[in-house]
Amino acid sequence: MAFPLNDVLLLLKDEVRGYQVPVVDLIAAQTHDPFKILVATLLSARTKDEVTAAASRRLFARAGTVEALALLTVAELEQLIYPVGFYHNKARFLSQLPAVLQERFGGAVPGDMDSLLTLPGVGRKTANLVLAVAFNKPAICVDTHVHRIMNIWGVVRTETPLQTEMALRQILPEPSWGEVNSILVAFGQGTCTPVRPHCDRCVIATRCPRIGVTPRTVKAAGERSAMPQTTEKKFVSWNVNGVRAAMKNGLLEVLRDLDADIVALQEIKVQPEQLPEQLRSVDGYQVFWNPAKKKGYSGTAILTKTAPLQVWYGLDVPRFDEEGRVLTLEFADFYFINVYAPNAQPELKRLSFKQDFNQALLAHMDRLARTKSLVLCGDLNVAHKEIDLANPKANVKNPGFSPEERAWMDAITAAGYIDTFRKFDPSPERYTWWSYRFNARAKNIGWRIDYFIVDQASGDRVVDAAIHDEVTGSDHCPVSMVFR
Ligand code: SF4
Repeated sequence: MAFPLNDVLLLLKDEVRGYQVPVVDLIAAQTHDPFKILVATLLSARTKDEVTAAASRRLFARAGTVEALALLTVAELEQLIYPVGFYHNKARFLSQLPAVLQERFGGAVPGDMDSLLTLPGVGRKTANLVLAVAFNKPAICVDTHVHRIMNIWGVVRTETPLQTEMALRQILPEPSWGEVNSILVAFGQGTCTPVRPHCDRCVIATRCPRIGVTPRTVKAAGERSAMPQTTEKKFVSWNVNGVRAAMKNGLLEVLRDLDADIVALQEIKVQPEQLPEQLRSVDGYQVFWNPAKKKGYSGTAILTKTAPLQVWYGLDVPRFDEEGRVLTLEFADFYFINVYAPNAQPELKRLSFKQDFNQALLAHMDRLARTKSLVLCGDLNVAHKEIDLANPKANVKNPGFSPEERAWMDAITAAGYIDTFRKFDPSPERYTWWSYRFNARAKNIGWRIDYFIVDQASGDRVVDAAIHDEVTGSDHCPVSMVFR
């Protein structure tokens, strides 16, 4: 039976009235100002709505007009809009925008696709949203929610948002084009979420074919802890490059948004007595800290919603363990190892230390994997293949991509351990770490050195693996895995 698209959109239009309004719609309703709508749309790309809303408020307080925006420097813009995703690039585009608007369009935002596409940082998605929201013109803005949900419903079978947009133009009546984005963004944020959608409370559950979807498992009334009773668990790993600095950059908000069952942190750079009050007990989690002996250096931690059966600090090798590099928790049907592997250092000065560490770690993995499933995550400080870094040729002898370090990754994958991210995403330019220098993150000159790895026998238990490169706050971004 064909999916009743028009009926479903009508139903959802009503349903999402009680949901949080997407930030661009909110700004449109509040201001009716094409300039503010354009700026908020630019800020919203790859950024959570709450972050966009706060950044828009700060920016509009200083620059609510084209003329006022022209007076701000790139550095001031960066400061105002941080931490929206790719804020360096966005600040640069915003600083160029006034001159382009004034020179070509008399200082006003143009109301046609071709002109909008000539503005700095404006692509088809942004232009469509501005046309629909600011000018009430027939345009379909296909963002990640619209593209994903239309494919889940089987309305389209497309690879890219542009293909989805072109297909929807044929399928949907023109009067409904403008509201599709608002409805599906609200619905995609509130119910049909990218990971584990709430099919259990979805108003269109009986009509949805759920193509490619793994819904969340719901606890029965009376069940107590989240982890043992659910069949799926979400794990997150993040090198925070100093837990106290990460706190200032929104660590707790990120943890709340990612809502994982287990969170592994690396490079915590903190002693227990230096912990900020909010981290001494994090709501809903039991926390295990494994700091380095040396202050302000290395260290690992795990936050878990379910109490483990056992905890091991280190590898029983004092020279590694005094750096707080490995923390292992045992649960009923799997082991969870959090690793912060040593950096081989310039001129590979610490390579032999790292090789010894890797050898001891592999022995630990093999020992545990004999008895139950093994999940290992963390910053392994190595990009495995050329696809895993932006400049492989320039880095062949450098720490993190030396043949010796890569050989260890070859050895563990040859032994059957699975790099879970590559099970789901074979594409290039997917990185988890960017140098603070040379504007590397904004240019996406990065490395994929943070992993979730499982033993061979547990490959079928992995439901999803992802990189959260929209999350800032450290020079690494979080990675995640869903495990059943
Ligand atoms: S049933 Fe599930 S997959 Fe389908 S629309 Fe609802 S939440 Fe999304």
